[in-house]
Amino acid sequence: MNDGYVRREIKVLLEKANSLKNSDSQRTIEFSNDALHLSEKIGYTLGEKVANLYMAYSYYSIGNDEKALELIFASLHYFIEEGFCDLIWLEYNLLGIIFSELGDIEKSMSFYDKAQIIAKEIDLGKRYDNKATSKKSIMLTLNNIAENYKLLNEYKEALSYSERAYDIDSLSDYSLSSGVTILSLGEIYYLLEEYEKANILSYKALKYMKRYNYTIADADIYKLLAQTSWKKGDYAKADEYFYIAINLNEKESIPSYKIDALLSYYEYMMERKRIKKAIGILINACNVSIEYKQHEKVSEISMMLSIFYEKSGEYESSFRYMKLHYKYEKKHLEDYNKNIIQSLNMKKKMLEIEKENNRIIEKNENLKIESQSLQMLVEKISIISELGQKITSTLNEHSILDILYSSIKNFMDFSYFCIGLYDENNSMINYLDAIINGKKENIPALSLLSKPSFTKKCIESSELIIINDVSKEFPKYINEGAFNNQLKLNYNAEINSLMFCPLIVNAKIIGVMSIQSKGKNAFTPYHIEMVKALSSYAAIAINNSIKSMELEAEVKKTKEIQIELEKLNKVLLSLSENDSLTGISNRRKFDIYINDVWERSIRERNSLALLIIDIDYFKEYNDNLGHLEGDNCLARVASILANLNNGPYFVARFGGDEFVILLPESSIDYAIKFGENLRSKLKKLNIRHEFSEISDRITLSIGISSVFPNENITINEFIRKVDNELYIAKRNGRNGISADVY
Ligand code: GH3
Ligand code: MG
Repeated sequence: MNDGYVRREIKVLLEKANSLKNSDSQRTIEFSNDALHLSEKIGYTLGEKVANLYMAYSYYSIGNDEKALELIFASLHYFIEEGFCDLIWLEYNLLGIIFSELGDIEKSMSFYDKAQIIAKEIDLGKRYDNKATSKKSIMLTLNNIAENYKLLNEYKEALSYSERAYDIDSLSDYSLSSGVTILSLGEIYYLLEEYEKANILSYKALKYMKRYNYTIADADIYKLLAQTSWKKGDYAKADEYFYIAINLNEKESIPSYKIDALLSYYEYMMERKRIKKAIGILINACNVSIEYKQHEKVSEISMMLSIFYEKSGEYESSFRYMKLHYKYEKKHLEDYNKNIIQSLNMKKKMLEIEKENNRIIEKNENLKIESQSLQMLVEKISIISELGQKITSTLNEHSILDILYSSIKNFMDFSYFCIGLYDENNSMINYLDAIINGKKENIPALSLLSKPSFTKKCIESSELIIINDVSKEFPKYINEGAFNNQLKLNYNAEINSLMFCPLIVNAKIIGVMSIQSKGKNAFTPYHIEMVKALSSYAAIAINNSIKSMELEAEVKKTKEIQIELEKLNKVLLSLSENDSLTGISNRRKFDIYINDVWERSIRERNSLALLIIDIDYFKEYNDNLGHLEGDNCLARVASILANLNNGPYFVARFGGDEFVILLPESSIDYAIKFGENLRSKLKKLNIRHEFSEISDRITLSIGISSVFPNENITINEFIRKVDNELYIAKRNGRNGISADVY
């Protein structure tokens, strides 16, 4: 086998590795490894180094950053010496990505800078891959820089880079990125709350992704479509797209994408007031987070669930999620510490390699200092974690203030401490108590519309303000008049160092924490780092507390509405079953009731009796005394009928001046006695009726019958029988009873 043949084989292996390096890490490593061994055998250095580079991409993809860095440094020097611009660009770009992931954005940016410089050389300079172009490389790095600005919540800056990437991509009909730039730009517009633009771009992304058969990003596109439709108020579309996005994620997705989509879906459902569905989604998000070991997410979501269940009175569930929250909060803090240490190790390693290459010796000195201070920070972070855990588990704003005060007192000295909550709608700052020289004091709310102040400046810029000598530094923030005013009002002349720390949750400013000290230069970089770290916890804790209060109000309101509804339902029910004039049951209720009794009597073979009662010459009463008096009389008669001291019976107004009394499990004899008793009660009441032709007071005629109900008789036939008895009573001269068994 000659070397030329082996080289061709190596080239084929590396081409395969290159084409798979963004999609199948395992096979990329295998192909690269084969290429590496063959290259070593025949002493083909370029093959060796390119294999290193492709493997670096794969190791990064499977989360082994350390190995990735090792491979980059094993090859970078060679590429620089040989001048392969496209390969150097690949290395710098990957370094940028890795450091961004490690949270060192500054370092990441410096590598992207280098990547951009070398990217411009690709078209005219020496390159390894003929398909590599300056345009594509520049465009991809611009997109990565935009990602970094997104991480920093600098969306405007992110937009300007993303737009540049998009413009370059659009010139080649988005083939350079297979349409990814459209999606990225859409996402940034969404973050900037420009929903119309984001919506248009998401539809466009959908179109291009289909064209380039790039399905991996589909779920993300649908998520963006859902979010933008939601924000535009197009809920039918939002429903549909969320459904598709969640389903696509089910099939295959990066865990954090999956959880983010669910959380967004949850927020949407909450806003739509579909609380039950929303909580179902939240529980799903919690389970997915547990499954993929996303500790921070589990901690955050279980807290939300716990608060929800507490407010809706389901204390057992609330407690269960609170426990889950603590468990994962702890795991998350452990991850956090591990990350810091890992990142520290990375930096060490990188600089060690740089030193090996005899590049920069002085950097080693810096490294030592940086490493020491980071190590110190790692130690202190464990203190912060503990305090953070305490703080985030309380929902009371004043306890949060106390915990923060005493934790900051642990590591620095100061004489004035306060937390102000930002009321965006009214442009006000409402203070929790201030603690001045150890004593709690009430301070009045501050309007941001009136005069300038440090607090106002802090809110407007969302940036930390550190002042080490106020009399010299104030002009950076406020004018002289305002300064003199505040010095007199807010600070006694003794205060010299001031710190205003914005409290930020999800890129939104919710308040300000201020620490002030008598001495000049009171705050060291260490103090500042610590306060910054603590302020994130404080912001989350305060936000939780505000959210919890809002939720409480919401739940209370819902309950009140429910009670009102129940009341209304009762009124409606009684309206539909009672006669409005007399207050006793109406015909409708009677129909239902007699039906029940009838059925029961058939089953139990019982007899029932019915009385129809009609007022004699009531028309005359009405005609002579007026309708109102007539009404009055009807009500009095009804009241007598309703309050008889007999066994169980049912009374209703049958219509006009007619009433019915139903006696379950009764014979005709009992019914007649019942009727007589009723007439004597009425007699005692003595309601005058001068216009009756048979008496000078109100009298009643009563028809009575009893029956053993069976399948051969209908209720109506029986009622007709009783009515007929009434007719007989009337015909017999009124003021009497006529009775007959059916
Ligand atoms: P009889 O002894 O044959 O029953 O004579 P009567 O005058 O009572 O005749 P009838 O039962 O036919 O008349 C019933 C009257 O009851 C007719 C109507 O003026 C009166 N009436 C029906 N419903 C109401 C009501 O809701 N309020 C008042 N004030 N009067 C009513
Ligand atoms: Mg009558």
